[in-house]
Formats: sequence, C-alpha cells, structure tokens
Amino acid sequence: MAQFDCVVVGGGSAGCALAARLSEDPSLRVCLVEAGPPDDSALVSTPVGAALLVPTRIRNWAFETVPQEAMYQRRCYQPRGRMLGGSSSLNAMIYMRGHPSDYDDWAAAGATGWGWCDVLPHFLRAENNERGASDFHGVGGPLNVADLRSPNPFARLFVEAGKQAGLPPNEDFNGAQQEGVGLYQVTQKGGERWSAARAYLRPVMGRPNLAVYTRAHALRVLFEGRRATGVEIVRAGRRETLGAAREVVLAAGAFQSPQLLMCSGIGPGEQLRALGLEVVHDAPGVGANLQDHPDYIINRKIGSSELLGVSLGGGLRLAKEIWRYVRERRGMLTSNFAEAGGFVKSELGLERPDLQLHFVIGMVDNHNRTLHLGHGLSCHVCVLRPKSRGTVRLASGDARDAPLIDPRFLAEPGDLAALVRGFKLVRRILDAPALAAFASTELYTARVHDDAEIERAIRARTDTVYHVAGTCRMGGDAGAVLDPELRVRGVEGLRVADCSVMPSLIGGNTNAPAIMIGERAAEFMRRAA
Ligand SMILES: Cc1cc2nc3c(=O)[nH]c(=O)nc-3n(C[C@H](O)[C@H](O)[C@H](O)COP(=O)(O)OP(=O)(O)OC[C@H]3O[C@@H](n4cnc5c(N)ncnc54)[C@H](O)[C@@H]3O)c2cc1C
Repeated sequence: MAQFDCVVVGGGSAGCALAARLSEDPSLRVCLVEAGPPDDSALVSTPVGAALLVPTRIRNWAFETVPQEAMYQRRCYQPRGRMLGGSSSLNAMIYMRGHPSDYDDWAAAGATGWGWCDVLPHFLRAENNERGASDFHGVGGPLNVADLRSPNPFARLFVEAGKQAGLPPNEDFNGAQQEGVGLYQVTQKGGERWSAARAYLRPVMGRPNLAVYTRAHALRVLFEGRRATGVEIVRAGRRETLGAAREVVLAAGAFQSPQLLMCSGIGPGEQLRALGLEVVHDAPGVGANLQDHPDYIINRKIGSSELLGVSLGGGLRLAKEIWRYVRERRGMLTSNFAEAGGFVKSELGLERPDLQLHFVIGMVDNHNRTLHLGHGLSCHVCVLRPKSRGTVRLASGDARDAPLIDPRFLAEPGDLAALVRGFKLVRRILDAPALAAFASTELYTARVHDDAEIERAIRARTDTVYHVAGTCRMGGDAGAVLDPELRVRGVEGLRVADCSVMPSLIGGNTNAPAIMIGERAAEFMRRAA
C-alpha cells in the first residue's frame, strides 16, 4: 500500500490549486488522484479546442440530468472536464469571482470566515493579472488573467449594442462594480489556455513529495471506525489502496464529491442502505442543495465570416487562422467564444445584478452538439441566484457509474420569470443599431413574441451554463455537510474542497471561486499539520 500524508481526489480547478499549495510544505507527502488523463493535448491548450471537447466524450464526463419536470421532461447535458485541470481544461476561460455580497451571504448563512474581506486576499494571491496590481487585482500568482489578444469585432459591437440598449459600460467586472456590459478577461497566457493544471500543477510536478496519479479512479474513502485512513482507487484495471496518515480531501467536483461521499457510506442513510452500502455517517445534506445557473440562448444567423461558422469561406479562413495561431498565438483560435457579456439588474430596486449575459461569436446550439450551416452569433442569459434546488443521488454504489443528477431547473416559478425578462433584454440588445446593421434571422424564436410563447420557448430550450455547486454545503448548522474549515461533519480526517462546498451559488462564473476554495483548503490543512 502506497502511504502519503494527504490524498487529494480530483485534479480539477480546486484540486490542482490544493495539491500544489499543500506540497509547498516539503514535510507533507501529497498524492493527487485524477480519474482522467493528463492535459497534454493541443485541443486543451488551444482555446478554440473546447469547441470539440465540450460536445463530445473526449476528456469529458459528458453527464446527463434526469428528465426535467418543468422543461417538458427533457434530459439536459452536463459536460465536465475529465483530465488534469478538470473543468478548467475545457471551460470558456472567463475570469470572474462573482459579486462581493455573495460571499457575505455565505458568512451570514454560517460559513464563518468566508465573507468578501476574508476571500479577497486569496483571489489576489492566486491571480497574475496582466493589467497590473490594484485594490481589486493581484500579480505574481499562478493563475494568469489576460485581456483577449484578438477580440472579435462582433464582441465590440455587442458592447456597443448593450450601451445603445441602456446598459452601462464596464471595463472590469471584477472591479468596483459588477453591473454593465463589456469584454471578459480570460484565464490565458500568451494566447494559450491557462487551466488550473497549467497554472498550479505543471510547475511543481517534479516535487519529490508530490505524486500525481492520472487515469486513477477513486472508488471510495476507507475508514477505521470514523476516521478516514485512505482511498481505494482503480488504476489500469487493478484496485489499489492509498493510505493517508493525515487527511483525505475530495475535490472531485459538485457531482462526484457527493457521489464519492455516498459511495463511502456518508449520506442519506436510508438511500445508502437501499443500495446495500454500509452507513458510516447518516448525513442527509450530502447531494442536496444542488444549484446551477439556468441559461437560455438566442441564436441569430448573420452572413459574416468574422463570426465562427460552417461554410466554405469559414473553412478557408480557419486554415489561415491555424497558420496564424501556430506562428503568433493570435487570431480567432485564441477566442474563448464567450468574449463579451454583462451583468444586469432586470427589475427596478435590485441591489445587485440578477442576470448574466454571455455573448458568443458563433451559433452555439445544444452545447455545440447541433451544428448549423452558415455563420452567426449567440447571446446567453442566465439567472444568477436561482431559487430552484436539486439533488445528486446514486444510481449504484459504484463510483464509476454516473450519478443521478437532478438540477430541478425552473422548478421555482421565479426562475422562469427572470429568464422571460432576460429573453426580452437580449432581444433589445441584439436589435440595437450596432448589431441591427447586419441582416439576421433568429433561429427557433423568430415568431415568438408574447410572454406565453417566450415561456414555452424557455421551457423547451433552457439548459446549464455549467456552474454546478452546493452539494456538500459548508455552514455553521448541524445540517451542513461541512464545517467552515471544510471538514466533513461526523467523521475525522476528511474534507471536501471544490464548488460543492458553496452554501449558495455565487453570481458569476465558478472557476476562480473553485481555485480560491482550493487555496483556502490548503491553508486550513497546513495550519492543522
Ligand atoms: C463547458 C464549461 C464551460 C465553463 N466556462 C467557465 C468559464 O468561462 N469561466 C468560469 O469561471 N467557469 C466556467 N465553467 C465552470 C468552471 O470551470 C467549474 O465550475 C470549475 O472548473 C469546477 O471546479 P471543481 O474543482 O469544482 O471541479 P472540476 O474542475 O470539474 O474538477 C473535478 C475533477 O475531479 C475528477 N474526478 C471526478 N471524480 C473522480 C474520481 N472518482 N476519482 C478521481 N478523480 C475524479 C474529474 O475528472 C475532474 O478532473 C465552465 C464549465 C464547463 C463545464
């Protein structure tokens, strides 16, 4: 049996940051276990490669939800990274922290020590913002944050159209104000994707006290009594045991961390027994409180090869762009697709934005699984603090089987109403002069006008914008799965560190917050060591 001090399960956004920071202490023997392969592929490092990773099973878990009641029983798609870097290796690279008040909400809900003033220093420590240091930004950290090297002209037109529709411009969504429209900053360096693996793990892979096991699927946490003592994994078809003298940390993401807890006997007791699992600790909160941003996309066809698309002209352009990328790491291949966007208050009197926009320089339909001939653009709108709460449950006691994912999208009527307001707002922006100057046809919704029609369209096409969280929530109450130092209540030697720990979903994209959570977990563990 291989013996370590700390075993980290999951080499994603949080897991890479955690393993790298923990192994800074040479006295700690750290093992990082990742089910997927390394991230050594041009499809990963080249930003537009995500167009192939997201819709397929290449380095992607490609989960599906159970049928969604409020959405005509549709099963929704849930891509998640399955490689070093996790979802940060196939995401859209937007650098975003959320709204400061999101973290103050966490603290007020019992996650003591997680208010904005507590977490900001960790965001700054993680960051290397190419714009330089300021009250809101850090330099010198592993996570490179940059402006897009070759922003698409349509991204700028979108910002212009947003202003014409009455929204304020915003040059820094992570600055003094979140509200407004603008170009996103991205986690890239020199035109390449800067995933958590690239930022944190690669520079330290040679450390003698850090072992990184890839293609190693964790099956369960092992216990002696109520103390976690290691992890059972399967690697190259063989079962192995990894001992953890101090702690095991699950960083397998908001679907698979609760799955692993349940497979290890920590979760809703009756459900575990029904699957023949031995209950170590009855914790009904495990897998509950699933939150995700429900998202609707309006697509418009526009005949311009400045936009991504499928055409002869587009093919010739792509060939040139590949050559340009190879030589300069500039041009269309550096696009993160969702180049621009915004944060909007959709009702009078709101204290903070309740909707986020992602403007995409191509017609993204069904997560790029449905392709259309020709060129076009898309604008997403998502609800930042949805009221609907879902679950992750086990389909079986084997962690290699996909869990049952039920986000219960639109279960709460307020979420649907917010998307209706969002739909109308997106139309207003796309119809503003800067974009209306281009002849366009709206896919699917050209004849949709009144509220009842908009509601039907939303139920028929809403899906995730990939920000799952909350399934192992931390808090001060006994119902919380974790205490505020991310320790699993009811057992010893076990923590969780990834997006599942969020008590409530933050109002923004979730990669930087996951990395911040990994940084903090390392701090707690090193203090305890
Ligand atoms: C398509 C897409 C686009 C996105 N775009 C953005 C964006 O532009 N900006 C942004 O901020 N956020 C974005 N996100 C969200 C963000 O990337 C994720 O919230 C974040 O990466 C989650 O981090 P995590 O550490 O919780 O989990 P992950 O990064 O998903 O890591 C979990 C890791 O655990 C591994 N694992 C799971 N089970 C096991 C097991 N049993 N044994 C071993 N290993 C296991 C997985 O393979 C994975 O590597 C996007 C997400 C997706 C899917």
